[in-house]
Amino acid sequence: SSRDDTLAASIRAIRDYPKPGIIFRDITTLLGDAKAFRQAVDDLVKPYADMSIAQVAGIEARGFILGGALAHQLSAGFVPIRKKGKLPHETVRVAYSLEYGVDEMEMHVDAVKPGEKVILTDDLIATGGTAEGAVKLLRQMGAEIVSACFVIDLPELGGRKKLEALGVEVRTLIEFE
Ligand code: 5GP
Repeated sequence: SSRDDTLAASIRAIRDYPKPGIIFRDITTLLGDAKAFRQAVDDLVKPYADMSIAQVAGIEARGFILGGALAHQLSAGFVPIRKKGKLPHETVRVAYSLEYGVDEMEMHVDAVKPGEKVILTDDLIATGGTAEGAVKLLRQMGAEIVSACFVIDLPELGGRKKLEALGVEVRTLIEFE
């Protein structure tokens, strides 16, 4: 739709970042465009209105920016999922795969209660390795993951399929090749 075209146009493409051959999708230009930011948040929350979502879990760091806005709109809490070593209280930790190698992410043990309805969010899904790690943490603490939502999907990298194979509904606003 033309609404989606407007949103897509607000995202800047950076060639050869972080390395040659990669086109990085830079959402700082979306965030800095008041109309585009509002539209992205409105479009992301729409399917979850009236679903009694208890918590929005956001993945460090761009997932924090979107997740805070989504949580406010849904009158839900916010749960930060962070790179290891950043959270001060007792955590659960999981290894997740990156393009080259692995890293670890953490969540506070008491951030979600068993059975709570949670939405997971990040700015972009590529291979789905990052989101898969977050799904594992949330499920380990008994959360019911209602859905995972992203502004951008890179469908050729297979992340949507990876999450759907785990039984997680995926919603995205824009696709780039
Ligand atoms: P994945 O684990 O799905 O392969 O990669 C997704 C993660 O990497 C997300 O946390 C996302 O923020 C980051 N990421 C990878 N590529 C891009 C990109 O082109 N633009 C942005 N904004 N984030 C990216």
